[in-house]
Amino acid sequence: MKIIGIVNQKGGVAKTTTAVNLAAYLAAQGQRVLLLDMDPQGNATSALGLRDAEAGLYEALGLPGKVSRYIQASVQPGLDVLPATPDLAGAGVELADDPDALSRLLASVNGYDLAIIDAPPSLGPLTVNVLAAAHRLIIPLQAEYFALEGLAGLMETVERVQESLNPQLQVLGVVLTMFDGRTNLAQEVETTVRQHFGPLVFGAVIPRNVRLSEAPSFAQPINLFAPNSLGAAAYQRLAEEVTKRVQKS
Ligand code: ADP
Ligand code: MG
Repeated sequence: MKIIGIVNQKGGVAKTTTAVNLAAYLAAQGQRVLLLDMDPQGNATSALGLRDAEAGLYEALGLPGKVSRYIQASVQPGLDVLPATPDLAGAGVELADDPDALSRLLASVNGYDLAIIDAPPSLGPLTVNVLAAAHRLIIPLQAEYFALEGLAGLMETVERVQESLNPQLQVLGVVLTMFDGRTNLAQEVETTVRQHFGPLVFGAVIPRNVRLSEAPSFAQPINLFAPNSLGAAAYQRLAEEVTKRVQKS
């Protein structure tokens, strides 16, 4: 099982939107996918219709041998979810001394080709656990003026984790999100990001698309909610690129 973390300590850059829709397309393309919601806000959990989960990732961290008990099927065939519950908010204290907790949990998960982890908007213990558990990272960047702001901090944390907890960790790619092609600014940001990261930047660019922002309130990923939208096409293309990169790496 390949483990992919969706990380960026900035909030509102489309981590959750990317985790949910990428996971849904990877499943629709025939892979067995587990989405882990590591953000106490639980937005990925509710976006996939699992609003009332009583127990989930937090409880599973304490009982890794019983993880299958906490995994739920989603509306997308082939996509299962280890949901966030409000208890996860308190986990930061416990996880601060235990950066390998998520890694141990994932070691007892069977039956999936891919795990996609939605990380919270911080560089705290929950995110460090994600970095310690993942083989690969996808970094969503909002196509706006401050896109690269804060990335130095993320990259330093990634390097620290590579040197100690998880030497195999690598960045799989950077994805531009909420791209508004009508503005010069968005195009300038794309040019800057491609200069900075080179071929790490995915060819797929996620447009600003109202269907993507509506889908969570209908508890559906975009491939089910609005399969003919521009947002759907972009995430479908991203999923194809991710599969190719994972196979190569
Ligand atoms: P994060 O998880 O990084 O905090 P979200 O995925 O929750 O970010 O996205 C933040 C907000 O922007 C949400 O309301 C989401 O619906 C919206 N959003 C994300 N991507 C797009 C997009 N491509 N077009 C329009 N709205 C988007
Ligand atoms: Mg989020």
